[in-house]
Amino acid sequence: MNKYIFVTGGVCSSLGKGVAASSLGALLESRGLNVRMVKCDPYINVDAGTMSPYQHGEVYVTDDGAETDLDLGNYARFTRSPLSRANSITTGQVYDAVIRKEREGRYLGRTVQVIPHITDEIKGRILAVGKDPDADVVIVEIGGTVGDIESIPFLEAARQLIHELGHKNALSVHLTLIPEVAGGEIKTKPTQHSVKAMQEQGIQPDILVCRAPYILDEATRRKIALFTNVESDAVFTSYDVDTTIYEIPLIFHEQKLDLVALKKLGVESRHADLSAWKSMMDRFRARSGKVRIGIVGKYMDLNDSYKSVYESLFHAGLDCSVEVEFVQIDSSRLEGEADPEAVLGEAAAGGAVHGVLVPGGFGQRGIEGMVRAAEWARVHGVPYLGICLGMQIMVIEWGRNVLGWPDADSTEFNQDSKHPVVSLLEEQVDVVNYGGTMRLGSSVTVFEPGSKPLAAYGEKTVHERHRHRYEFANNYRSEMTESGLIIAGLTSDGSLVEAVEWPNHPWGVGVQFHPEFKSKPVSAHPLFRGLIAAARDRVLQKA
Ligand code: GLN
Repeated sequence: MNKYIFVTGGVCSSLGKGVAASSLGALLESRGLNVRMVKCDPYINVDAGTMSPYQHGEVYVTDDGAETDLDLGNYARFTRSPLSRANSITTGQVYDAVIRKEREGRYLGRTVQVIPHITDEIKGRILAVGKDPDADVVIVEIGGTVGDIESIPFLEAARQLIHELGHKNALSVHLTLIPEVAGGEIKTKPTQHSVKAMQEQGIQPDILVCRAPYILDEATRRKIALFTNVESDAVFTSYDVDTTIYEIPLIFHEQKLDLVALKKLGVESRHADLSAWKSMMDRFRARSGKVRIGIVGKYMDLNDSYKSVYESLFHAGLDCSVEVEFVQIDSSRLEGEADPEAVLGEAAAGGAVHGVLVPGGFGQRGIEGMVRAAEWARVHGVPYLGICLGMQIMVIEWGRNVLGWPDADSTEFNQDSKHPVVSLLEEQVDVVNYGGTMRLGSSVTVFEPGSKPLAAYGEKTVHERHRHRYEFANNYRSEMTESGLIIAGLTSDGSLVEAVEWPNHPWGVGVQFHPEFKSKPVSAHPLFRGLIAAARDRVLQKA
């Protein structure tokens, strides 16, 4: 029988519950177990697809095209759990399913209620993930903070499952905060209250992970144990690290979190092989020098908006033995400057960037600034990686500055352009009923011989994930390539352009897909590695 671990959070949000759940997943995997990760989100949105990156951070896309919460990105970076639509459960989905069943008359005239109908729907979805015969442990992270009205049905579902599956098969791991007050004293009271709130929901936490400024001593752990009914050797600290969040699995392992969890679940513990994590930390410490990468986007106020992009750049730095400094540039800043050099070049505060990345995005604002950044990178031979919108920007810039069409544009931004070099498929050919929907999820890209992406991947055919509507306009293919732009990759049937490349340039690559969703600290993504390696070469050349 497979085992379940429910991870909840208390006191306040942003304590790193996703990282804690993922780290536990990584540790169980290091002991040879097959882990499945599930996120429960108490919001009423059916999925994260409609949520603004300004407010909620990035939308993480799975192979099957689900637009999910960014926490799934943590799972993907820390664990090998397969992730699909099934691994992301929202209140919106649950209610949607229950209301549909009600309309279909499937509740046979009964009153449809939160308990049992909503909770049964939640339980059914959680148990469905565990039905996979390969799954040993399912880690279910419940979003929000205990005490929130919204999370109650999820906590109730967890309570029922713990009761039904039995304590040997289902654990509660609760994450809390131990704040430091003036004078440097740390306080356990919020943790005591948080555990009480859990108990009011009928759940006695088995393990506490306390977010604290430093590792808690024995006496503090005993005090917490006394007030919370949690054994003192099941009280762990997630202390602030000045290295990287990817050290957390090792920090938990040192405190024996994995051993204690497995013991409680009655799983015979196997030898932990943490060599991949340890060598990742060795590479972290061995980095020397720095490359500055300008991320030119429009959602710059919230670090989570391009979460996977930043993480992927960091992973690539580990592989290339350099520290990657993120220079966050709101593209609209480039619109006000007479010369992009003032923002990107030597004249910029902090000096020139050694590489430019234009990430995905929607809507017109900031586009002109991105085009200017792309032009600057192309003309000055500065390494550039364009992701989705960032590739479309390369095509627009080429149309304007190389082909000499000042109005070259995407029909997303200018429907009257005489040179719509990026457009909807149905605008390119007369197909009705295609549009309106996004191209979502994984599909095949085939790279051209001699192209930079082919060299980076070392593979001709790759599977990458998409989330976009607009495409390189096929009717401009010949003019684009005849003027020198390289089409570096196509869909397997050749119908859509998947990658472009600047000629005679150290590294100017744009891809229509999102490589950032597949990069891991223990194995950086080839395209990010390509960008950082080229940026590092640029630094070395200049030195
Ligand atoms: N807005 C563009 C499109 O829909 C790019 C989307 C993206 O970058 N994810 O095609």
